[in-house]
Amino acid sequence: MTTIKINRQDEVIEYTIPFKSTTLLKALFHIKQQEDNTLTFSSSCRSGVCGTCAVRVNGKEVLACSYNFQKDDLVEPLAYHEVQRDLKVNKQKVRETLRTSTAWLQSHQEANISTTQVQLTEKQTDCILCDSCYSSCPVLEVNPSFIGPFALTRAYRYTSDPREGNIQAIVDNIQTNGIWDCTLCGNCTEVCPQGIDPKMDITMLRGTATQFGYTDPNFQAMDFGFGGGF
Ligand code: SF4
Ligand code: SF4
Repeated sequence: MTTIKINRQDEVIEYTIPFKSTTLLKALFHIKQQEDNTLTFSSSCRSGVCGTCAVRVNGKEVLACSYNFQKDDLVEPLAYHEVQRDLKVNKQKVRETLRTSTAWLQSHQEANISTTQVQLTEKQTDCILCDSCYSSCPVLEVNPSFIGPFALTRAYRYTSDPREGNIQAIVDNIQTNGIWDCTLCGNCTEVCPQGIDPKMDITMLRGTATQFGYTDPNFQAMDFGFGGGF
């Protein structure tokens, strides 16, 4: 027997699970089928591929199908998403960040691509849009318009593609509420179930942006003891 707690519409309810430790998703299905069929959550592939079942456990994002629950775990919906019911969230608004970042091929040009170049952004293409990184990001707490980690990772993927003939278009579109707003805390990298490193991708994008004449606006505003920014 194990107990877990679920935050359902801001009411924390404790459930007893008649098995010791297995996946959280299995426990959720047990509750729904045996104890309370009103419990609502999302899942699909049940094998860590689709990213549908992401939730927070004790404040940290996990895929319910890949996480083995522990006694007294507190399960909550993803942060910064509209909660539709219990653990089910609406991901539509967050998907808009992909549109804001314009993270797609802007202008195709012919290019020879080496295996090394493919490998440089192979990892980024593994994103399953689980939104775990977005939920973990502290910047969204103070700036809900921040583009966020997975859309910036995708922007990096396209700015690094030799077939992209207009890198500047993407770089221009991730200046406001984009790469310079990130605090490089690394939360996104820590929670990504695919081993993607959005923090590093954002760092690389900053380097690309400087090649197009951009500088960190926070740096410009700093006072270095000369009576104001420079
Ligand atoms: S590294 Fe940047 S994008 Fe990632 S969670 Fe921290 S602030 Fe957000
Ligand atoms: S970058 Fe990782 S954590 Fe973020 S949405 Fe993609 S798979 Fe999920």
